[in-house]
Amino acid sequence: MRLVFASNNAHKLQEVRAILSEHEILSLEDIGCHADIPETADTLEGNSLIKAQFIYNHYHCDCFADDTGLEIETLGNIPGVRTARWAGEPANPAANRKKALAELSGKTNRNARFRTVITIIRDGKVDQVEGIVRGTIATAEYGNGGFGYDPLFIPEGYDRTFAELPAEVKNTVSHRAHALQALKLIL
Ligand code: IMP
Repeated sequence: MRLVFASNNAHKLQEVRAILSEHEILSLEDIGCHADIPETADTLEGNSLIKAQFIYNHYHCDCFADDTGLEIETLGNIPGVRTARWAGEPANPAANRKKALAELSGKTNRNARFRTVITIIRDGKVDQVEGIVRGTIATAEYGNGGFGYDPLFIPEGYDRTFAELPAEVKNTVSHRAHALQALKLIL
């Protein structure tokens, strides 16, 4: 099946193509979409729906979009839907990581989870799936791999961050991997 994934993030595209290997996955670049799709909803479900609907309405092709939030337990599950811009505009991953470390300074409960919601639209029919990975926030940054909060996030069952673990491990245990596995089941 040919599906447009509403992203140009090279790391994400790599993860998505590795997991949905039997499908042809096109990026926004591949379909000539250079729009900055506004993410104005206050939930992950809402934002992934906005992105998928934008592509479906403008390009009339089967497509899916994801939205991810980091939910830190001791902070009341923030930054959540504000994960990309937690430290302010414009989105800055290094500043976000610095803020996470500052907010958790001195805290013993470092439990967190990543949650991804994927919205897929095929022939106008909308479906949503979710994926979650639980873990903890490290006390400093470790590793050079991945993107975003990866140098801080230690998935449950491991003693290294996503940025230190091989991509194959992240592609098996991550929030997006779980959401993509759920997506695979309905394709
Ligand atoms: P998005 O909704 O997928 O764009 O993600 C929102 C925010 O979560 C961005 O700041 C990303 O850096 C961060 N994020 C999403 N997925 C991951 C991941 O796999 N590792 C680390 N950070 C992520």
